[in-house]
Amino acid sequence: MDESSHGGCECSEPPSAITEQDEPPGSGLLPVLSISEAPAIQQLDHSQSGSILTQARNQSSAAVLRNRVGMAPPSANTVVVASTNTNNESAIKTGRNGVRVDSAHVAESSPRVENPLTVQFRERFFPDTPDADWDDWRWQSRHRIKTLEQFEKMLDLSFEERDVLSDGGTLLPTAVTPYYMSLLDPENPLQALRKTVVPTTREFVRTAGEADDPLGEDGHSPVPGLVHRYPDRVLLLPLDFCSTYCRYCTRSRVVGHGEIQPNVQRLEAIFHYLEEATQVRDVLISGGDPLALSDEKLDWILGRLRAIPHLEFIRIGTKMPAVLPQRITPELCNMLRKYHPIWMSVHFLHPEECTPEAKQACTRLVDAGIPLGSQTVLLKGVNDEVSIMQQLVHKLLLMRVRPYYLYQCDPISGSSHFRTPVSKGLEIIQGLRGFTTGYAVPTYVIDAPGGGGKIPLQPDTVIGRDGDDLLLRNFEGKTFRYPDPLG
Ligand code: SF4
Repeated sequence: MDESSHGGCECSEPPSAITEQDEPPGSGLLPVLSISEAPAIQQLDHSQSGSILTQARNQSSAAVLRNRVGMAPPSANTVVVASTNTNNESAIKTGRNGVRVDSAHVAESSPRVENPLTVQFRERFFPDTPDADWDDWRWQSRHRIKTLEQFEKMLDLSFEERDVLSDGGTLLPTAVTPYYMSLLDPENPLQALRKTVVPTTREFVRTAGEADDPLGEDGHSPVPGLVHRYPDRVLLLPLDFCSTYCRYCTRSRVVGHGEIQPNVQRLEAIFHYLEEATQVRDVLISGGDPLALSDEKLDWILGRLRAIPHLEFIRIGTKMPAVLPQRITPELCNMLRKYHPIWMSVHFLHPEECTPEAKQACTRLVDAGIPLGSQTVLLKGVNDEVSIMQQLVHKLLLMRVRPYYLYQCDPISGSSHFRTPVSKGLEIIQGLRGFTTGYAVPTYVIDAPGGGGKIPLQPDTVIGRDGDDLLLRNFEGKTFRYPDPLG
């Protein structure tokens, strides 16, 4: 909903900052990750870095880019791929070492890929970090960018960004993986990806109709960490940790607060509830990001769920392929494939997230037999244009991800700067339907405030009736008749 339609807004004092952990919490049952390394961030000369990274965004060839800035080449087993394969550019690429990369099929032993922005970013800020560390999702998690001091070394902060970071943050913690940070524009606070992960003072603005729990999840929670709103489906929240925090998160009231721990006692209470709830056939594991759990912990959770006979369908909701594709390891995929049918909802927002690394992560999951559907939140100034959404859905199809839902942004407290009018979402669907592949068109939904569930919205196509004929409007706006006697 448009902020102005609420007749003004009120500003509240920033709540005290949430202390967030460096790694997902563990429990006594299974190994807990250790935290030992400090971020190895070097001083940035902004006068150079901004222009260099801006150039990098416009390059189609990483080799040209490296030549210009005098960078060392990436390691011999790395294939630098500028972007995912849109249009019909060759699906076969050749790396520095002559390794061919078939972008349609990346086997488990596939060579590592790295996009040019990340290559440059590493040279600037993590020059001594070997590929083995950079590619280690635990290393990425330990080296997340969380403080004002870290952010200001990497970005030219706007007043609105600096102000909120120096105040200690907002209700939702701030953290960005080094990988995702490498995709941010250091000079432009209005860059789409940057807006979604770097907080601004606009998060302190509260408008009418907003709520901390707009979907009423807390009122449908029979056991802590379980939401049972529909008869046959439940939402299981194993933890509240995410590697990167999205500023528009529907669960910002809990995410990153450290209150939902994946401890055995709480999870066993959930499993016990599900054993008794025989009408439940579908479990969505979300969070927090469930893939922030170790393979061992996730293995245990999935094993416990699969031991409940009436649970047919298990889904996992994650943003890891976009913000930390390093998490999608062959070992993880091999573990997941034991529990089929497993489906996955992946969270992509913008075509700039569709890097070769993200594509490799999605390919590994799909090759492990896991169908992928994307969930995209419609966000003002981020992806609220038909052309951007069209690029996104096309890139998703090339990554073998089916665009599934386009969500109207929930009226979460402090989200008015992200919310578009509903007419914008309808305009985008109208701009996709008929103009691109049917598989590329997501279902546009509003998750009804108060727990009403997802309500699909689409432009009117049935425009009336004339006798026994139904009058229909096609994607070009032309009217057609379909014989449909009322009988
Ligand atoms: S990954 Fe999901 S749960 Fe985590 S902050 Fe983003 S939207 Fe919220």
